[in-house]
Amino acid sequence: MEYISTRNKTIPISSSEAIIQGISKDGGLFVPINIPKIENIGALKEADYKELAFIIMSKFFTDFELSILKNCINNAYDNKFSEKEIVPLLKVGDVFFLELFHGPTLAFKDMALSILPHLLKEAININKIDREVVILTATSGDTGKAALEGFANVGGIKIIVFFPEDGVSKIQKKQMLTQEGSNTFVVGIDGNFDDAQNGVKGIFNDQNFVRFLDKNKYILSSANSINIGRLIPQIVYYFYGYLTLLREGKIEDNEKINIVVPTGNFGNILAAYYAKEMGLPINKLICASNENNVLTDFIKTGIYDKRRELILTSSPSMDILISSNLERLLFHISGGDSIFVKNKMDELVKDGYYKIDKSNLKDFYGSYSTEEGISSSINKVFAENNYIMDPHTAVAYNVYEKYKEETCDNTKTIIVSTASPFKFGTKVASSIGIDIKNKDEFNIIEALATKTDIEIPKAISNLKDKEVIHNNKCNKEDMKGLIEKFLEVGDIDD
Ligand SMILES: *Cc1c(COP(=O)(O)O)cnc(C)c1O
Repeated sequence: MEYISTRNKTIPISSSEAIIQGISKDGGLFVPINIPKIENIGALKEADYKELAFIIMSKFFTDFELSILKNCINNAYDNKFSEKEIVPLLKVGDVFFLELFHGPTLAFKDMALSILPHLLKEAININKIDREVVILTATSGDTGKAALEGFANVGGIKIIVFFPEDGVSKIQKKQMLTQEGSNTFVVGIDGNFDDAQNGVKGIFNDQNFVRFLDKNKYILSSANSINIGRLIPQIVYYFYGYLTLLREGKIEDNEKINIVVPTGNFGNILAAYYAKEMGLPINKLICASNENNVLTDFIKTGIYDKRRELILTSSPSMDILISSNLERLLFHISGGDSIFVKNKMDELVKDGYYKIDKSNLKDFYGSYSTEEGISSSINKVFAENNYIMDPHTAVAYNVYEKYKEETCDNTKTIIVSTASPFKFGTKVASSIGIDIKNKDEFNIIEALATKTDIEIPKAISNLKDKEVIHNNKCNKEDMKGLIEKFLEVGDIDD
């Protein structure tokens, strides 16, 4: 399997090279040259998570020796996950929740970031790279912690995380600022997630800076969902969720299901699209947004328009106006037309919007939830089913309700549950009537645990007494300077 840039399909590279580079030099994202099919999917229903991961990833990461790939998978999906199924599927009312948050940092980002460091290490070996790898990451809260956790103390790799100082939850912030590991660096920037993401992308595309780092024996890579090494592992749980339904007799073989995904950077839902293209019987891909509803408008009209203010919501990991992975979707739905993609991406930079023919988006349904909708959904599902959702998952649930009302479609449906409710205690607790006035975050979480009768996850209770290790802040213009400082490489302008 070879990989090409969405903006130039003439230079194919291997999967290990694509993982190391993270993003293409032309600004495009790497995509597989074709999306492989899986035949006779129902026959896989007895496979456990690791076995399934191996079957799927071996179709994409073809320049990894099979035994090496197997090791990567075994090292990733082990007892770091608190549930033996890795991703449990729960029936709640008339829907199924696929819980993707039982990894070490309690958000779905662990699904890919527990394996990416292993893949990257092997990719460095395969390509005999004699450079130290610097992972540059912009985070809306969850990627940062999951990446720090995955890469902490991995030899030959340093990781630098930029997060929006005022755009993450208190728990997310504390999780990052207390990260141990001498190779980890964490920086709060005075902007929003799009600023952080644009800053990081700009640094990747700054050829002078890249050459300067190269002279100093460093090579940049990315842990964001622009890295294909993150996208591919996320395909696995859609198959696993489907096959769990089949194994448990909840669906017939080949029966179609809907998938609802709370979406920010369009990474998680793009993995579901890949699963569909690989042959998984999916009816609708339901794209759920919060009040930053740029994707809702796009799916309804074909117009992607970022010219609006970013709103800080209670689902901060979706507070994004420039959904990077949409570029990959444009590539696939245009039949691999890299000139079309490049033109659209140039228009987005130049004019702030672009338009495509919306008939290409028929696989998708898009809608969004307001803050009020998030609260009422959390409250309703807790009252009716004694099930507690985090705000991101509540966005998905709220949008699913709208979908059902609009379409009367009663196809069986999986909602992906992307974070533990304890990561976003304030919003969740206040939604179910807990008085949060004059309580600090940990008091609120304790009250939430009492009311819901769920134990506080260790990764959060441990956090309370952890010491803050990182206290770097910077303006969004100064990201490069801070990287130079961390890497002790002097100043590029000297
Ligand atoms: C990152 C994240 C999302 C959004 O995922 P994308 O891949 O960016 O669409 C949703 N929920 C949670 C909890 C997240 O951390």
